[in-house]
Amino acid sequence: MKVYKFGGASVKEAAGVRNLAEIARGTEGRLFIIVSAMGKTTNALERVMESFWEGRTGEAVVAMQQVVDYHATILEGLWGEPHLPERVRGLYEELEEIITLSNPQSRSYEEWYDRIVSFGELISTTIVSEYLNYAGIGSHLLDMRRIFLTSNRFRDANIDIVSSTPRLKKAVELAQERVVVGQGFIGATEQGATTTIGREGSDYSAAVAGYILDAESVSIWKDVEGILNGDPKQFEDVSYIPELTYLDAIELAYSGAQIIHPKTIKPLQNKRIPLYVKCFVNPSLPGSVIKAEIDRPIDKPILILKKNQILLSIKPEDYSFILEERMAEIFKILESYRAKVHLVQNSAISMALCIDSTRYLDEIVEEFHKAGFTVKYNSDMELLTIRGYHKEHLVQYAEAEGVYMTQRSRKVLRIIRKTNVE
Ligand code: ASP
Ligand code: MG
Repeated sequence: MKVYKFGGASVKEAAGVRNLAEIARGTEGRLFIIVSAMGKTTNALERVMESFWEGRTGEAVVAMQQVVDYHATILEGLWGEPHLPERVRGLYEELEEIITLSNPQSRSYEEWYDRIVSFGELISTTIVSEYLNYAGIGSHLLDMRRIFLTSNRFRDANIDIVSSTPRLKKAVELAQERVVVGQGFIGATEQGATTTIGREGSDYSAAVAGYILDAESVSIWKDVEGILNGDPKQFEDVSYIPELTYLDAIELAYSGAQIIHPKTIKPLQNKRIPLYVKCFVNPSLPGSVIKAEIDRPIDKPILILKKNQILLSIKPEDYSFILEERMAEIFKILESYRAKVHLVQNSAISMALCIDSTRYLDEIVEEFHKAGFTVKYNSDMELLTIRGYHKEHLVQYAEAEGVYMTQRSRKVLRIIRKTNVE
């Protein structure tokens, strides 16, 4: 059994779906395929959600129509004429019913978000599975909401691997077809409420599936040659890294490299399942592999830019010593708003934290005030991490304008700077 994951960019148009089918056709043995929402559908559904939540039903319907039109183009490209599979039509009806007939106040923002945004993956996998069948590759479609049991932490749910294991094993065993297709990114609580596991989380879904099914490998198909030592849109002279250890990969992902979701590595490392990052435009390229032991250690600096950061500076009003006693308090507040902390630096009475931008910033600041802290913050920040940095990087980046803070070990240089300083 192999597990393949196709991200939004790889199925953003009909050609990509056709390509997926050819890759599936060319793979021997059983195959479990995890698919994300097509192209930028998740963002489009976030707009549907916003309008729905604000009670602007008309706007929500218009935003939903854009999603429908976008998929209609892909469907037409695949079938050569307008085509709407019954199961896809059913999904559209279900979504429309939610946004036109439900009362937003009846559930939390997060719960509605998951209900609505999950349609991206439900639609994409239905189209992919229908198309595989049409192309003569028998496929079985799973509804991962019946497979992955998660916590009820909406928008950031955790998959309960133990209780999901028998469900996935059984579903794959029962499927007659060689190829099984399932949604990335989504699951459900024990009560059956739809959940999502965090933006870009499909990689993690694929890793968990690989773990449960004892896959021989997991491959993430992307629109790049493999893993590069920097995002070519942001840095010059980037080049390809053929092999990485699980540890390299986890550090990279944690620093914000967009290549794989940070949670992906652990389940694979635990069962020593290799993870391939493959180029779907040219499947014959070797891609990059992440595994326990590698023959060619990374020999170049890796640059990772994490955007949309906020730099918080927190001080206790009474100048009480910030360490031990109050650190736990600070993190508890951040955790309760699910703030993602990426860097911490502290002095005797202050603590600076770099967090992902969040819609709860005002609430977080308010909580800190209540707990007796003064807070200052800068939004529009970004975090640059350079692993294996050289002296030149210090001059070029650390001493540049717009830098608010640096942190440096022998191997890693981290810089918090104002966005768009270059
Ligand atoms: N479709 C979701 C997102 O765009 C999940 C994923 O792509 O992995 O965040
Ligand atoms: Mg996506």
